[in-house]
Amino acid sequence: MPQLAQRVGRAKPSAIMVIAEKARQLKAAGRDIISFSIGVPNFLPGEHVYEAAREALKHDSGQYGSNRGADALLDAFLQHIEALGFSGYGRSNLSIGIGAKQVLYNLAEAMLNEGEEICFAAPYWTTYHDIADIVGAKANVLHCGAEQNYKLVPAQLEAALQRKPKVFLFNNPSNPTGMVYTREEIAALADVLAKYPDTWIITDDIYNSMVFDGLGYNNFVFARPELRDRLVFVDSVSKTYGMPGWRVGLIAGPESVAKAVTTLNSNHITSVPEVITAAAVAAFAGPQDVPRAKCEEFAGKRDVVVEALSAIPGVVCPRPQGAFYAFPDISVAFGKSYQGTKITNDVEFCAVLLEATGVACVPGSAFGEPRAMRISYTCPTAQLKPGLERIQAFFAQLS
Ligand code: PLP
Repeated sequence: MPQLAQRVGRAKPSAIMVIAEKARQLKAAGRDIISFSIGVPNFLPGEHVYEAAREALKHDSGQYGSNRGADALLDAFLQHIEALGFSGYGRSNLSIGIGAKQVLYNLAEAMLNEGEEICFAAPYWTTYHDIADIVGAKANVLHCGAEQNYKLVPAQLEAALQRKPKVFLFNNPSNPTGMVYTREEIAALADVLAKYPDTWIITDDIYNSMVFDGLGYNNFVFARPELRDRLVFVDSVSKTYGMPGWRVGLIAGPESVAKAVTTLNSNHITSVPEVITAAAVAAFAGPQDVPRAKCEEFAGKRDVVVEALSAIPGVVCPRPQGAFYAFPDISVAFGKSYQGTKITNDVEFCAVLLEATGVACVPGSAFGEPRAMRISYTCPTAQLKPGLERIQAFFAQLS
């Protein structure tokens, strides 16, 4: 019997999907389930996006497209990143992928040889570790707990960079914590990065349009333009435009990296389909009222979530300022029991919570922080307060 490649053995099924599947089964069995588990934006793009897709369908060439992305899409993306604050980028700095996930995988393949180090902060988006494992890189995980608002501080980054990692991967706003770095915090980290020229920098900032409280989006290159030569910005239509199923991700970075990603594309995905491309152009270049309205809505929901969680004795919930996640430290529950069932860790907590109350949350250990759980609060508003009340009632019954 032939064996599968070792790298497949290193890939783990997503812990998020395990909870989502359990919630789906309970729902199918007739239970009243409120899902705070999957990180989907839960809204659809503006009508102009569908109109552009329908129009493109009428004129479809049926051909392969560009490995880098169609010029119209690259130009629309340039317009989008200029509005974010990037300047001086051209088409040759860009490349495309089937969502940010595939783009990140491409970047790992382009930058990391087997055994080389990639460092990133925990809590981290689950896939970072999995991608590192699949390509055979060593992950150096920098623990950032609730006591430091889940944010990386310059001294931690400095210590990590002294090991000369090949790649530093950064995520702002953060999935799973919803934390957003201020301009000053970004500048302080950029100062450290500037001292270590042998490390590539990837900023996975796909939640850049969901920043609350007037904080604004910031990137290391805004503070230190010289980092441009080794920094890659990753973006996607998934979260900003409510288009996770359309699968379009893009990078802006040094020409050498954009070229490498384009070459990898030519050997696997080839191109993003024409109709999808037209929809993505409309999303980036068209009216931005849907993402703006959603950002406001999520900021309001954030307030409701933080207020409810902070009212639970012992639960610590650093205040998220972006994306659509909250990441409360629930470790006060460990060692307690719910109606006779002992809870010793985050996985048991989420399993008992789901079984007892029908509320699905994701254990923090999926993100490298086993003291917490992730709440994704994009569910319909009518479900938000009842879901939070069930969590409060659950805590009240722990003994
Ligand atoms: N990066 C982060 C931080 C994410 O949370 C996600 C999706 O949840 C992705 C990348 C992947 O996005 P895409 O849908 O564009 O593949």
